[in-house]
Amino acid sequence: MHKLCPFCHSWLSTNIFDAHVASHTQKLPDGQMQDHVTVRPEERFAGDIAKEPRWYVHPRCGGVTGMPEEIIRSYMVDPFLYNESSFCTGCHNYVPTAELYWQETNESLQAASYRRKAEFIQKNGLNPQDFVWDALGPARRKSRGGSGVGTIALVALGGLAALFLVGFVVMFAVIAARSQAARRQPAPAPFNAGFPRMGRDFQPVKFPDIPEPNFPKGPDIDKLMRESHEQMEQHLKESQQRQEEFMERLRSDAFGPPGGLPTPPNVGPPAGFSGIEEARKRAEESRQRSRERMDALRERTRSRP
Ligand SMILES: [Zn+2]
Ligand SMILES: [Zn+2]
Repeated sequence: MHKLCPFCHSWLSTNIFDAHVASHTQKLPDGQMQDHVTVRPEERFAGDIAKEPRWYVHPRCGGVTGMPEEIIRSYMVDPFLYNESSFCTGCHNYVPTAELYWQETNESLQAASYRRKAEFIQKNGLNPQDFVWDALGPARRKSRGGSGVGTIALVALGGLAALFLVGFVVMFAVIAARSQAARRQPAPAPFNAGFPRMGRDFQPVKFPDIPEPNFPKGPDIDKLMRESHEQMEQHLKESQQRQEEFMERLRSDAFGPPGGLPTPPNVGPPAGFSGIEEARKRAEESRQRSRERMDALRERTRSRP
């Protein structure tokens, strides 16, 4: 078995894979990892990146850091490749993108990244539900592997809810562990790597003047953010609806006619009182329906491998 190294894009046999990757993520004396994950060279953005911001500042320490071109070209084709931290040459460490600002645009790296992610989903017509959304927008891809409901049978709703919760917690733990282990690699190379020391046109920015946080001046950000929120709400609404439908189904399956009506009495209807007859008919119909549903459910369960 072979695996593709996301750092150097060579195929490696699985038994040496971990050690190999560890060598890429080793910290150099400046605090930065040896290498960073990128998209394969032939898949990177190949167009002009002159308009892409390149230098970012960390107002807390005053450090300015340059984003390596191969990383820019990578997140331009896959904005979900990196997590929300980036290397700061002032701190000699990886810091949250929320603390970093593009010098050229004053936009925070975090805002720019979420904007890019939202655009990516939109442009490629992807399903927003395949992504984990937080208050800012689409944060990351959901982990693959589907959520097989497995044993359907007649699980009590409480049990099911608990299951979901556990699933979520586990998922989170996995993601957290993963981002600790392998995903701290969005960082750029040191600012001065192979570059003449700054002093360029954009350089004389004084740090105290550096932009107020958080307010990207891009034209569409507000709109994008609004859309994110709307999508998130829509998402929530849909899942609530599904939940309600599910509960409705459970109720009728398990407890007879909807609305909790008891099974109608066996006694015949008093003459001239058609209301009871009507109710009885409805109850009978609904029992029939629920019987059919149960049969269908059993059928489905049985036909499962
Ligand atoms: Zn490698
Ligand atoms: Zn810093």
